[in-house]
Parts: sequence; C-alpha cells; structure tokens
Amino acid sequence: MTPSSDVRRAGRGEHGGMNAFVPAPPVLSASGLTKTYGSAAALAGVDVAIAPGESVAIMGASGSGKTTLLHCLAGIVRPDAGSVVLATPHGAVEVTALGEAERSRLRREAFGFVFQQGLLLPELTAVENVALPLMLAGAPRAAAEQDAATWLAALGLGGMEQRRIGQLSGGQAQRVAIARAQVGGASVVFADEPTGALDSRTSAEVMDALIASTTGRGRALVVVTHDDGVAARCSRVLRLADGRIVDEVRTRTEESR
Ligand code: ADP
Ligand code: MG
Repeated sequence: MTPSSDVRRAGRGEHGGMNAFVPAPPVLSASGLTKTYGSAAALAGVDVAIAPGESVAIMGASGSGKTTLLHCLAGIVRPDAGSVVLATPHGAVEVTALGEAERSRLRREAFGFVFQQGLLLPELTAVENVALPLMLAGAPRAAAEQDAATWLAALGLGGMEQRRIGQLSGGQAQRVAIARAQVGGASVVFADEPTGALDSRTSAEVMDALIASTTGRGRALVVVTHDDGVAARCSRVLRLADGRIVDEVRTRTEESR
C-alpha cells in the first residue's frame, strides 16, 4: 500500500523524469503525444503517467485538446507521434502499436467509457444495459444480470434494476452508465464531460459515485470537465492549452485507500 505522502510527492519534477518519483507503476503512461488535424495541432507533445487509483481531471478551454488527449489515451484515436502504454496482468501493452481490431478489443476489455449522455439503450432496463457488455463478451444472461445488479446496488440504484432508462432521472441514468463502464473489469475509466448535462447538486453526487466506484477499487479515472467542482473531487488536475499541459495540480490524495 502506498503512503499518500509518496503519492503527493510523485507530482513533482513532472518534466524531469517523473518515473523516478512514482512509487506505484502507472497503469497508463503516455509520452510525446502529438496529433495534428490539417494545420492545427490538437496535441503538441503531452506526457502523462496515471497510477492505479488515481482520478485525473483534464481541464482547459474549448479546443485545447482535451477530448483528443482522452481519445489518444483510450486508443480511440491514434496519435501522429508518441506512445501510450497500458500495464495489464499479462504485461505492458503498447496501445499505439496495435492495429484497429486489437485496440478495439483492448477498449472493450481494459477500458470503460462514460459520456455526457450515457448512450444507454432506452428499450432495455437498467440491469439489461449494465449486463449487455458481459453478454456481448459471452457471459450467460443470468450471471451477467447478477453482476450487473451488484454494480447497480454499489452505485445506489438497488431496487431500480427493472426500470427503463426513461424512467430514471438524469443522475440515475449516469450512474447506470458508470456501472456499465466498469462491469467488465476496466482498469481505466474515461469520462468526457460526464456531468455536463446535470445540475450542480446532481453533478456532485454523480461525480462522487464515479470517483468512489473507480478509485475505491484501484481503478484509474480520467475525466474531462469544465466544472471546477468536478475537478476539485479528483486527485490531480491537468490543464491544457493549445495541446500542451500548462499546469498540473495535486488537489488531494485518494480518500478511498
Ligand atoms: P477540446 O475537447 O478541448 O474542446 P478537442 O480535442 O476536441 O478539444 O480539439 C482540439 C483541436 O483539434 C480543435 O482545434 C479541434 O477543432 C481539432 N479537432 C479535434 N478533432 C478533430 C477532427 N476529428 N477533425 C478535425 N479537427 C479536429
Ligand atoms: Mg472536448
């Protein structure tokens, strides 16, 4: 178990070989990420290492490269240069060296995604939505729904398993999306403006559920947000401008250790 003071110290010397300071090996690390669309640089050289159990907020003005960074880290977009390496139980995988089919498999098996609108299937119930990734991976329906119900309960949605998405509030629906993102055992959960459509109180509740359910299980969370309240709940805030990290703040250590 890593003492929290070591975690905090790991933030120093980011640009001078931070690996020397990181006590726990990162689950995801990126170096030298660049991505250019036309003549515009969306990412202009980003290095970041994310430890298990960390919650990292990515902030910055519109167009600063937040979504592009998230998509490069998650293997959705291939950077022009630089590498992304994921630590797995079977060893390190260079995400950026994989082909489309392998990256797609990695996204299903190792990553979870939460978007602004949960992209849940409205004709399915809450428990069916969460069970779906497991069933697509070959799990029998009963076992998948049992796991799904456990996740729903952990996110405060016990008793709502049989509701369709339209019968849930926005905050409840986002918690279903959070359950679905993790039911398959993701080691990193990516969220792009997950509370962007919610009022501030619901946003705080959903964000607390997102952080507790990921970091509390040793998973890493990477969340793009414009909301200072959301960022303040994360253990680290990265600020982007013109495709570069211009500021990095450790706000607090993970409270769930
Ligand atoms: P943010 O999420 O911070 O608003 P993005 O990562 O979406 O920023 O975009 C960064 C820059 O890259 C912007 O100038 C944007 O217009 C450009 N960009 C992003 N995605 C694409 C794309 N698929 N095609 C062309 N330009 C893009
Ligand atoms: Mg964006």
